[in-house]
Amino acid sequence: MSLFLQLVSVPKAIETVRDIAVRCRDETVSLGEALHRVLAQDIYTDIDIPGFTRSVVDGFAVRAAETTGSSDAIPSIFTFRGRIAMGSSSGILVQPGECIYVPTGGILPGGADAVVMIEHTEQIGGEVLVRRAVAYGENVLLFNEDFARGDAVCPEGKRLSPRDIGVLAAAGCTIVPVVRMPKVGIISTGNELVPVSEKPLPGQIRDVNTYVVASFVQEQGGLPLLFGIVRDDRDALHSAISRAASECDAVLISGGSSKDNRDMVATVIAEKGEVMVHGIAIAPGKPTIIGRWGTTPVVGLPGHPASAYIVLIAIVRHLLAGMTGETGSSIRVVQATLGQNVPSSKGREDYVRVIVQDGIASPVFGKSGLLNTLVQSTGVVRVPADSEGLETGTPVEVILW
Ligand code: AMP
Ligand code: MG
Repeated sequence: MSLFLQLVSVPKAIETVRDIAVRCRDETVSLGEALHRVLAQDIYTDIDIPGFTRSVVDGFAVRAAETTGSSDAIPSIFTFRGRIAMGSSSGILVQPGECIYVPTGGILPGGADAVVMIEHTEQIGGEVLVRRAVAYGENVLLFNEDFARGDAVCPEGKRLSPRDIGVLAAAGCTIVPVVRMPKVGIISTGNELVPVSEKPLPGQIRDVNTYVVASFVQEQGGLPLLFGIVRDDRDALHSAISRAASECDAVLISGGSSKDNRDMVATVIAEKGEVMVHGIAIAPGKPTIIGRWGTTPVVGLPGHPASAYIVLIAIVRHLLAGMTGETGSSIRVVQATLGQNVPSSKGREDYVRVIVQDGIASPVFGKSGLLNTLVQSTGVVRVPADSEGLETGTPVEVILW
């Protein structure tokens, strides 16, 4: 109980979850299954990319110097020497005064050092009029300009986007080393909770958190395992956490995390494991527990879904990143200007929901227990612990939901 009075700062809480996070082991997946997985090793390319100098436009390969001064009024004239076929190399050389047609992606013939876009040319029989000068290398991708053989194309710790997958494909990485997705056990506690499939009776509410937390875990690259609703009962809680901890890499429990003596999550964790943090200087989200059950990290989240979500973003995200090995940021932000004053207490990190419109972030004040603002707001603005509030007109970073 007394621990709860000793609030730790957000950075300290993050450090604590980082310390207890164990990176999951590596496994391999096929390239087609690698989207959103975290790379377990740097990936190198086995070839030069591109492997040949090629045109990036449809046009005529020329010696750039010979186009100097070309214009609509005074085009330069080249002898047409033929066409390059897509996907094949050609022995023909561009001699002085000659040009060769190259399709986009076609190999640049020897002798040529630039390509004039077809739009700036006119072919008349065996001659091509060039109406625009090109510089050396213009409209051309040089041999290994993208990546040289042996270059690292994608770093360990990167969560793979569709764009990364494309680069891995180009590098010939068909079997991708990734970090195993952490299994995260999810428990909701509270005598008032009923499964979402039920109509709550007076005094009851549907279990929102199981699905909020599970979706967040999924979004962050984890594998949620649901352990359902547990009553506010020591033995029931003990056996649920015990089962979840033995089957999972981490356990997230929501509800029962405050100092109210009916809220026994911290007590139960302390019986079997260790409670390192009980109470964080964050609003909303103060009644948060960070602990361990054996070696398995366990986080107790506040019951209010809106508060729980802030703790997921501010703290749990770092626990999951420690387990997946993800090095980049897994949140997206936009810059905006604050449309209203936001008061805040010094010594506490505040997360204020905002609606962003035309670059203005308008705070959504009101009852933090309401769910509707979670859907209607754009994201949250973090007010740092050393700040006593932010004034209208302050540039802020909005963490997008
Ligand atoms: P607690 O932290 O257990 O005191 O809960 C704080 C508030 O959050 C109470 O109003 C609970 O009914 C609510 N709450 C707790 N767990 C959930 C849940 N899984 N889904 C929705 N609301 C919850
Ligand atoms: Mg409760």
